[in-house]
Amino acid sequence: MKPQDIYGSLVFNFDVMRSRLPKETYMALQQTMATGRRLPTEVASTIANSMKDWALEHGCTHYTHWFQPLTGITAEKHDSFISPLPGGGIIMEFGAKELIRGESDASSFPSGGLRATFEARGYTAWDPTSYPFIKENILCIPTAFCSYDGQALDKKTPLLRSADALNRQALRILRLFGNYEAQRVTAWVGAEQEYFLIDKSLFERRRDLKYTGRTLFGSKAQKGQELSDHYYGSITPRVSAFMRELNEELWKLGIPAKTQHNESAPAQHELAPIYESVNIASDHNQLMMEILKRTALKHEMICLLHEKPFDGINGSGKHNNWSLSTDQGVNLMEPGLTPAEDAQFLLFLCAILKAVDEHADLLRLSVASASNDCRLGSHEAPPTILSVFLGDELTAILDALENHRTYVKETVADMSIGVHVLPKIPRDISDRNRTSPFAFTGNKFEFRALGSSMSIAETNTVLNTAMADALQQFADILEAAEDFQLAREELIINTIKKHKRIIFNGNSYHEDWHKEAKKRGLLHLQTVADCLPYMTLDENIALYARQKVYCETEIYSRQDVLGENYCKIISIEAKTMLDMARQEIIPAIVRYSKLLGESAALKQALLPQEPIAEAGTLSTLNQLTKNAFSACDDLDKSLSNVPLDEGRIACANYCRDILIPSMAQLRQSCDIPEKIVARDLWPFPIYEDLLSST
Ligand code: ADP
Ligand code: MG
Repeated sequence: MKPQDIYGSLVFNFDVMRSRLPKETYMALQQTMATGRRLPTEVASTIANSMKDWALEHGCTHYTHWFQPLTGITAEKHDSFISPLPGGGIIMEFGAKELIRGESDASSFPSGGLRATFEARGYTAWDPTSYPFIKENILCIPTAFCSYDGQALDKKTPLLRSADALNRQALRILRLFGNYEAQRVTAWVGAEQEYFLIDKSLFERRRDLKYTGRTLFGSKAQKGQELSDHYYGSITPRVSAFMRELNEELWKLGIPAKTQHNESAPAQHELAPIYESVNIASDHNQLMMEILKRTALKHEMICLLHEKPFDGINGSGKHNNWSLSTDQGVNLMEPGLTPAEDAQFLLFLCAILKAVDEHADLLRLSVASASNDCRLGSHEAPPTILSVFLGDELTAILDALENHRTYVKETVADMSIGVHVLPKIPRDISDRNRTSPFAFTGNKFEFRALGSSMSIAETNTVLNTAMADALQQFADILEAAEDFQLAREELIINTIKKHKRIIFNGNSYHEDWHKEAKKRGLLHLQTVADCLPYMTLDENIALYARQKVYCETEIYSRQDVLGENYCKIISIEAKTMLDMARQEIIPAIVRYSKLLGESAALKQALLPQEPIAEAGTLSTLNQLTKNAFSACDDLDKSLSNVPLDEGRIACANYCRDILIPSMAQLRQSCDIPEKIVARDLWPFPIYEDLLSST
């Protein structure tokens, strides 16, 4: 089938609606999608009926409200369309009520105490700004998930709220520049998705991969990524077949999968879609992760989305490319054609510097997880210090502005100087920096700290909110100013002065940067445990309240869920390690030792005069076995002392300070013998096998 024939074929999109809905209904829905306004019930009822007919024609028998609880993955509960008739028999039914609102016994989803146990239900509400689609013969309706008193139990609701906040404030700025045409400003996001593929039969033999998604043991393969021969390398036929099917499945769902290539690490790949408005991009990324996994299975492979499946080689991230654009398609992150447009660009740029500098803690929190902790700060992953890369030229322009100088580009003689000190900003800034967590790439910002398994919703909620808040403060000042032009220049200069410490164009991987960042007073929050307390700082609660994104209880609930998740994941990893070490690894070492011992004894009897070759290794293994036993006992003890009664933050600190070092100790004591014990006695596939299995 041709891509143009299958693209969007499983989506109840504008084309389908236009051909199926009465004109007024279609117009009303379009209005709702464009403005986020409420949908009248009669309209919803007509839409529901038409949606059902369409779904039945595509072989569906069930529908589900598809939502994104705080687990970070998606949830669905299927209901069939059947409705019994009085005289026997059934009809297929689906009304406005079922479309717009669903109920869900949500007591098993994490809510961080938001839902009292006596009120276990939550409800899902249709998000008409995201298209319904068909997945595995189920009609899926994208929904928000809330408690009965309206508190958000999901990741979509705050994202939608933050998009509204951003729109409100960005429009105020545009109006100041005389733009009365724009009706909506939206964040656009392209999320590049990295992942690993390994053979399913090998995966099945490793309990760590099965239970935790990453390897908890394993010494480095002889050949990792040193030769850089995997990056952009030719794709194996098996992976190629997988990618072909993956693209088709994604295209059917209207997900614009565009770029695919091998990544730096062996067995690692990347898929990038074309950017979309943030809410759709977020839904689509959730779907993409699910379809990656499902399609891999069809090819007898496992898709690992964990941020750090293998030690010693690159982990997987999800680059969040983010820009703002008006409903007329003007990208506000792009230098303009005229001095006034450049001034507007600079104002938005300054708002970003302010947003990232003031809310670095929240951005860091939005990418915090036990699994991303394993990735950030090592092997080609951005450090846990937030900074912004602007490139030399843009930085020089800001520098000139700040010091009331005129920027002169050495090689370009003629410059158009606009208002006051503003130079013409080049539109083709092409500097690239691959080490920065937050890099300007010409017409968008690329946030690289997001982890491969995470929902993009939270990061974009923070970006939108922080940006909205900066723009609000700007608009307050500028609307009250007598001379807009003068006030705006002053504002730009003051903002540069105040927030330039967040700009860093150098190598973020280098340890010199850590020292420099400390001098600049930038935050360096290395683990979930470190950032957890920042979530509920007064200023953060105030920010979210001001922008109407989270209320206080919603923030506390998220802190609770993050802390709980962190501790649970680390405990599961620790228990898995113990089982593997005691039941598989130590027995293998013992078996090999026995073999060596038997051989040694034999030689001793036959060749009593000669030194025994096995003795040295046997003695080493004996010591290593001892180490492994004692590391197991230590970890066991650490596990039984988790301070469960002392609250999330205490538990998280305990995980960071006691459990994780204890796990590292056990890993080390088991990874060394892996290199010594006979290959056929080692109980599970090693890195070398896993990384070349597809
Ligand atoms: P790379 O970063 O690998 O050089 P690109 O910059 O071309 O690749 O694109 C990476 C991602 O950024 C893609 O998903 C692309 O659709 C997205 N993207 C491109 N332009 C924008 C934009 N204005 N806003 C948001 N995302 C964008
Ligand atoms: Mg990129």
